[in-house]
Amino acid sequence: MPELPEVETVRRSLLPLIGRTIRRVDVRLPAAIRTHRPVQFAKVLAGKSVRKVERRGKALLISLSSGWVLVVHFKLWGLLRFSAEGIRPDRETAVIVHFKRGGDLEFRELQLSTIELYKQRRLPRIEYLANLGVDPLSAEFTKERLWELMQRRVAVRALLTDQERIAGIGNLWAHEILHAAGLRPGRQAIALTLAEVEGLHQAVRRVLRSGIARGGEPEFSDALERKGRVRLAVYGRAGQPCPRGDGTIVAARSGGRPSFFCPACQH
Ligand SMILES: [Zn+2]
Repeated sequence: MPELPEVETVRRSLLPLIGRTIRRVDVRLPAAIRTHRPVQFAKVLAGKSVRKVERRGKALLISLSSGWVLVVHFKLWGLLRFSAEGIRPDRETAVIVHFKRGGDLEFRELQLSTIELYKQRRLPRIEYLANLGVDPLSAEFTKERLWELMQRRVAVRALLTDQERIAGIGNLWAHEILHAAGLRPGRQAIALTLAEVEGLHQAVRRVLRSGIARGGEPEFSDALERKGRVRLAVYGRAGQPCPRGDGTIVAARSGGRPSFFCPACQH
């Protein structure tokens, strides 16, 4: 599932599209578009140019001329791919945006992920965007803010992945962060000490930043098809040695989702 580091990685790989103008749009899987019929969608996009590419939580926002914004809401899976030579569609191709003077942007492998098209002024009324919590890489995400967020009787893993409190962290990166912080996923948020919350705050920033620097998790690739180079410490690594060399990663389930930790260094 693309999370903050992956969406930020794909955002950065799309920055060269700024200033380019859309020639036409080919909708191959109409169900991927939630706000428009394919013909309307293509009609709105034709002739618009790319102004900005932003991320909010796990959503990618591509702002176009005339006040339109394409919102890619990543859920289970989804990839964007740009090719200067053009894209040859296959059965995973949902939409291809053809640019003037060459180059195609493909939206593909959309598993529950959606493409929506809105006028900029409508964005504050889009429920998912309006309800997003603090961005963990923003200046507002201070250790005091995290301490306040932690004052709840829920597992710390559930709190880190609650998009209405902290935006962008999903199950994979929550586990990597908790390993870096030495905390077990099932710990009650409210029971953490001040020192533990401070350590967690640092781990959130450090792990997400290094995830972005390495292009995200290894199954993901950016719009130029560069693979993620992160070596995961715990997620999906049950039975393998902890990278700290002190124990073996164990798997559990919590809240119906897989959970991983090292019993030796996470408490
Ligand atoms: Zn360990």
